[in-house]
Amino acid sequence: MIINIAIDGPAGAGKSTVAKAAAKELGYIYVDTGALYRAVGVNALREGLNTKDAQAITGSLEKITVELKFENGSQQVYLNGSNVSEEIRTPAASMAASDVSAIPAVRSFLFDLQRDIAKHNNCIMDGRDIGTVVLPDARVKIFLTASPEVRAKRRYDELIAKGADVDFKKVLEELIERDYNDSHREIAPLKPAQDSVTVNTDDLSLEQSINMVVSVIKEKLQ
Ligand code: C5P
Repeated sequence: MIINIAIDGPAGAGKSTVAKAAAKELGYIYVDTGALYRAVGVNALREGLNTKDAQAITGSLEKITVELKFENGSQQVYLNGSNVSEEIRTPAASMAASDVSAIPAVRSFLFDLQRDIAKHNNCIMDGRDIGTVVLPDARVKIFLTASPEVRAKRRYDELIAKGADVDFKKVLEELIERDYNDSHREIAPLKPAQDSVTVNTDDLSLEQSINMVVSVIKEKLQ
């Protein structure tokens, strides 16, 4: 029997790091669904489209392919056949992803791809609507969260470590804007699934967050 685990939550809560580590421990694949929305956002930026223009973005979907591949156990995202796994990580791509993700045609464009991976693999999938929409029957659902300040600080440290020239206030502002967009959109808004377990990582180190999530999963799988 295939086992699917959903981890949802706002940007910077630590979802990807925690989910990746938990997946490794359980021997499951880790699927980062944000990468898909980021790829659609990057395509729009490349084409000079307004990322809030639903008609233009919907039209752009006819000409693109987005694929996820798992190479040496790590997820790579391909846009029109080329690997964009690095390019999707810029702050501009984050905002573009948040904008395009509110467009219904984008969500349905990416839906089958996510469902198909989950159907065939034991996986931990992270995103915003995994427990509520994509995998409503997931065996375990976790809502991973933290305060905006803590999340922005983590994002800021990550970007600085990569050598980016960023301002903390701007990172915090963009994160709050993205939270607002993600939780107020009409379709598949960010919210905890009714049957999810909420884990707040404000006062937890990364290691403690991973341990907490792994223990919730193991307990639920028993
Ligand atoms: O998780 P990540 O920050 O990479 O996601 C980028 C954006 O993609 C989010 O701000 C959100 O708008 C969108 N997203 C979504 N549904 C998902 C995953 C991501 O709408 N399942």
